[in-house]
Amino acid sequence: MTLNPDRSYAPATRLVHDGVARSPYGEVSEAVHLTQGFVYPSAEAAEMRFNGEDPGFIYSRYANPTNDVFEKKMCVLEGAGAARAVASGMAAVAGAILCAIKAGDHVVAARAMFGSCHYVISTILPRYGVEVSIIDGVDIASWEQAIKSSTRLVFFETPANPTLEMVDIAAVSRLAHAVGAIVVVDNVFATPLYQKPLELGADVVVYSTTKHIDGQGRCLGGIVLGSEQWIVENFQDYFRHTGPGMSPFTAWVMIKGLETMPLRVAQMTRSAGVLADMIAGHPAVSFCRYPGRADHPQAGLIARQMSGGSTMIAFELKGGKEAAFKFCNSLSIPLLSNNLGDVRSIMTHPATTTHQSIGEEARAELGISDGLLRFSVGIEDTQDLLADINEALDAVKNNSKDHRKEKNCVSAVSLHSVLPQSII
Ligand SMILES: *Cc1c(COP(=O)(O)O)cnc(C)c1O
Repeated sequence: MTLNPDRSYAPATRLVHDGVARSPYGEVSEAVHLTQGFVYPSAEAAEMRFNGEDPGFIYSRYANPTNDVFEKKMCVLEGAGAARAVASGMAAVAGAILCAIKAGDHVVAARAMFGSCHYVISTILPRYGVEVSIIDGVDIASWEQAIKSSTRLVFFETPANPTLEMVDIAAVSRLAHAVGAIVVVDNVFATPLYQKPLELGADVVVYSTTKHIDGQGRCLGGIVLGSEQWIVENFQDYFRHTGPGMSPFTAWVMIKGLETMPLRVAQMTRSAGVLADMIAGHPAVSFCRYPGRADHPQAGLIARQMSGGSTMIAFELKGGKEAAFKFCNSLSIPLLSNNLGDVRSIMTHPATTTHQSIGEEARAELGISDGLLRFSVGIEDTQDLLADINEALDAVKNNSKDHRKEKNCVSAVSLHSVLPQSII
C-alpha cells in the first residue's frame, strides 16, 4: 500500500514507507542502482533528456535513482524542497559554502565547530579572497558586531562539537537576512529529529550522514538540503561539475539507516538522559553538560529550539588529562573512538584526539579542557551503561588500577607481526 497523501504521518512511519521507488520486480527493500549512467531508447529521447524536456536520469554524477530515494526521504524529514547527497559530511559543508560565495564576500562562522569545518573556513576561504570572521556563536552581540553589508554567508553548528554549546538559529537568521546573507547550519549533533533549522529561519542544512543517519559505523556520507530554488540556483551546477556525489551503494545503506534512525535515536536519548543525571552527580565530575538538563547554561534556548534532548553528553573530570585517561582506560562498554551517533557507545577525549591539532590556546577559547570528555551514547542496555560508566568514574575517584592495561589487548600492530608475510 502507499501512504495517504492527505494525511500527515510521524517520521517513524514516513521513513520506512516514503520515497520507495520500486522496480518492476516489486522488491520490498529498495533496489540499489549501481550504475555510472543510463541509456536512451532513441536519439530523440537522448536529446530530450539533455534539453530538460524529459526529466529522466543521465549520469550518476548528476543524479541516480537510489540517491534520489535517499534525498527525498531526507527532504520529508527536514521539510526541505530539495537535497543532494554527497560523499561525506565535509563534502556537504565545503560544497554548501563554496558554491555560494566569491572573492570579496564576507563569511561569519561560530568558532565552536568540527575541526575540518574550521580548516575550510579559516584556511581555504581566505586563499580565494573571501574575508572571514570567526566569533563566539553563543553571544548574540558578537553576531551583531560581525555581520556587515558584505556578509554573504553565516555558518554554525548547534549544539556544537564537543562542548554542546548552542547558537540561536532564529536570532542569527534574522541578523543575516537583514544584510541578504544566507544561513548554513550543520545540524549533525541535533539530528533531523530534534531540531528543524529551516523552520527556524535557516536557508541550508548540512549533515554528516556518517553519524546518526547511518548510525552503524559503515559508510561515510553527507547531504545538503535547502529550498528547491536555492539548490537549483546555487548548489546544482557546483555539484554536477565538481563531482562530490554519494555512491549509490552508500545511498542505499543510508536509506536502510533512516528506517531505524527514530528507534535508535530515541533509545540513545533515553539512556543519555539517565546517564547525564548520574554523571552530573558523581564526585569525580566537575560539570556535566547535556541539552536535556535544566542546568545547561542555555536551557531556555534549547527549550525553544529543540524538541528532544541529545544522544551526546559532554562532561569534565576534576583531575584533568590523567583522570580522563584513567576513566577511558577503565571503561568496558564504550569504544574509544571518534565517531558519534553510532549504535555503539563511543567515548572521545577531544583535547588529545579530535581537537589536538588546534593547539592549547584555541582549546582554551572553546572550553575544551584536558579533563573534558565527549560521550556518544549508544543503544546498549541503559543499566549496563550506567554500571560501566559509574565504575569507571569510581576508578578515577579511588585512583584504582587501570583495567584495560591489565587486559593486555592485542593491538593491530601486534596482530600484523604474527601474520605470515605472504598474507599481508
Ligand atoms: C562528523 C562531522 C562532520 C564531518 O563529517 P564526515 O562525514 O566525517 O566528513 C561535520 N560536522 C560535524 C558536526 C560532524 O560531527
